[in-house]
Amino acid sequence: FERKKILVLGAGYAGLQTISKLQKLLSHQDADITLINKNEYHYEATWLHETAAGTIDWEEGVYPINKVVDAQKVAFVPAEVTAIHKDEQRVETTQGTFEYDILVVALGFESETFGIDGMEEHAHSIVNPQTSLEAREEIERNFANYKKSNDPKDISILVGGAGFTGIEYLGELVESVPELCEKHGIDYNKVNITCVEAAPKMLPMFPENLVDYAVKYLEDRGVKFMVDTPIVAANEDGFVVEVDDEKQQIEANSVIWTAGVRGSSLMEESFDDVKRGRIIVRPDLRIEGYDNIYAIGDVAAVMNGETERPWPTTAQIAMQLGEHTAKNIELSLKGEKLEPFSYDDKGTVCSLGSKDGIGLVMGREIKGKKAAFMKRLIDSRAIFKIGGPLLAYSKGKLF
Ligand code: NAD
Repeated sequence: FERKKILVLGAGYAGLQTISKLQKLLSHQDADITLINKNEYHYEATWLHETAAGTIDWEEGVYPINKVVDAQKVAFVPAEVTAIHKDEQRVETTQGTFEYDILVVALGFESETFGIDGMEEHAHSIVNPQTSLEAREEIERNFANYKKSNDPKDISILVGGAGFTGIEYLGELVESVPELCEKHGIDYNKVNITCVEAAPKMLPMFPENLVDYAVKYLEDRGVKFMVDTPIVAANEDGFVVEVDDEKQQIEANSVIWTAGVRGSSLMEESFDDVKRGRIIVRPDLRIEGYDNIYAIGDVAAVMNGETERPWPTTAQIAMQLGEHTAKNIELSLKGEKLEPFSYDDKGTVCSLGSKDGIGLVMGREIKGKKAAFMKRLIDSRAIFKIGGPLLAYSKGKLF
């Protein structure tokens, strides 16, 4: 081997899995590996809805990156990436410039508001621990204020979008909000939790009976759904929606946008042909025209050969992409041919709080407690895969 400089940007599921696998595959003599990440910790992006509802504290869903990184093999630099110069093989960060022979771009996702008027200013998003905590604090502040104000808007929560994030978030809210009511002496029956969804149907990837189960679960606990109702603006009073071509104001003081994500905006600044922060990758996960640059996780559009559409961005695929990238890097160092990625879709579970859920796992439909158990297993397995058994024991959800 010729000792190459490998640079991995981002320590989310994709980037950290790449590092975890690379340090198993390569010895210190093989390569000089550097990981750059904005924070000193990795966060479980799939747990953010729990932080945002207050069912967990944000610290529970994070762990220090140095718990995973083998300092003998990998240099971890906490810094923010500010520019990628692909032709000069150089990356600028808040901690200086880094050169590379092989680059892995795994910079993750951001909120996407599709340019909807007022959304960025007036709604909270659930995209990182900070924004999730802000969403939670907003709700707590408004509920605490209700005693003084008696304003129904203070105990009204609006959730924009009934995708996975929206539904899982609502599942947490119906657990945490009753507790919040108890704390402040508020009658939960007076609380409004409304979810607004543009499409006529929610969670189209699930069979109808499972979707009905989830909707009933949430409606039984007081959630109101408005489907077929696009949100067209946000303001200080809540959302503006369109019903029968007419605009309507829906009022709430706690407003959370869960209706869109995109890859890092650094992607558009650094590469060509990027759509919503995602770049199409070749089957071996390198980008077109650059044999030394891999893009993985939420910044990559990985095509599903059967549907000719990109796979949805999930933690599950991000980790598989990371593992595959590490293997391909090893092959490239040996001068061997790279392997195409193939996704092993193990299914999905949509949680409904800590005790319920729906899912399609290994081709089987599950719901209720079984789904909640599967979700805990999936959440813990992610930590195990990246950080090993001890980390899974301390941070996982099995005990
Ligand atoms: P999403 O894009 O999947 O869902 C957004 C929802 O918002 C959609 O139902 C869409 O119709 C709706 N919407 C969009 N614009 C709207 C508007 N103007 N007004 C009203 N509704 C609007 O986003 P997500 O749920 O954050 O998921 C992002 C990705 O993460 C997806 O690939 C998803 O599969 C994945 N994810 C998976 C899980 C899981 O496996 N349990 C959990 C969370 C997220």
